[in-house]
Amino acid sequence: MKLINNLLIQIIPFFPKSFIKLFASPYIAGITDDEMLSTVENLNTKGYDVTIDILGEHIKTEKEATEITERYANLYDEISSRSLQGNLSIKLTHIGQDLGYDIVKKNLIILTEKAKKHYNFLRLDMENSPYTSETIVLYKEALKIYPNVGIVLQAYMHRSMDDLNALANKNFNCRICKGIYIESEDIAYSDYKKIRENYIKLVQIGLQKGSYIGIAGHDEYLINHLYQWIQDNNISKTQYEFQVLYGVPMEKTLQKLIQEDNKVRVYVPYGDNWYDYSVRRLKENPKMVGYIFKNIFKNIFG
Ligand SMILES: Cc1cc2nc3c(=O)[nH]c(=O)nc-3n(C[C@H](O)[C@H](O)[C@H](O)COP(=O)(O)OP(=O)(O)OC[C@H]3O[C@@H](n4cnc5c(N)ncnc54)[C@H](O)[C@@H]3O)c2cc1C
Repeated sequence: MKLINNLLIQIIPFFPKSFIKLFASPYIAGITDDEMLSTVENLNTKGYDVTIDILGEHIKTEKEATEITERYANLYDEISSRSLQGNLSIKLTHIGQDLGYDIVKKNLIILTEKAKKHYNFLRLDMENSPYTSETIVLYKEALKIYPNVGIVLQAYMHRSMDDLNALANKNFNCRICKGIYIESEDIAYSDYKKIRENYIKLVQIGLQKGSYIGIAGHDEYLINHLYQWIQDNNISKTQYEFQVLYGVPMEKTLQKLIQEDNKVRVYVPYGDNWYDYSVRRLKENPKMVGYIFKNIFKNIFG
């Protein structure tokens, strides 16, 4: 399978855009605001909360950074005026992190103040390792303005346990995920079992310290294991939520969690940057190619 995935990744750039769209479309909640908002309304009706992400990262000019910040700020207005159950997830490189600390900080503060105005929440996604430390510094800056800001820790990073221990307290809101970027073995686990073990420890320690944990991912072993642990340890339902990416087919598991009064949040990416995002994600995580083919065959052959 690894060989097939790697081969597919080599040939992806030669495929027509329409062909890539076939793979990407189940994972993208539309191109326009209206398409995304109707997807969100639909998800809310089914009992899901959402977190909305405008696709894109590593923007190159301050003008673009300002425009994206405005678009995000307007989304808080839309969420409020339509009474949606949702918040925003942003990538700091999408609002100017590559252009300098002052630019990204200014834009982050604008969004934090907008979240505060609407009593909403802002999540800072975690990008690859060169950005980790600065993301934590910026997260602390945002916290000075408004407590409803959260961050992400990646279970494959060796440093995440130290970061958790330094940050976790009763007001800490953290998404734990495995980590999507390719990282060096010097700083990150590559072994599937080790990543799972670290993921479990991070979630458990975070919860034991009284933090709010977003248990993000689609690994049913981890979801079941942690849900059992949560029940065995009488962890309050107000202290955690499950989070999944839009389009990953696991409706049965998620609906069961919702029926048992757990919060399930769907990460909803949208926008016209779908092509670069999809191709980059496919390259970053060859396993995605396998999942996508598996789903297409499942849809065709039942
Ligand atoms: C809500 C959310 C937010 C995230 N935020 C970040 C972030 O800020 N930074 C970061 O580095 N990473 C982030 N990630 C990505 C995360 O780190 C993992 O790379 C991603 O979740 C894949 O790991 P997994 O948990 O699905 O486990 P895996 O072991 O990769 O997959 C478990 C099973 O899930 C199924 N599956 C997984 N993905 C798909 C798919 N796309 N289509 C179909 N089936 C699939 C497969 O059947 C697979 O066997 C986020 C993930 C989620 C769900």
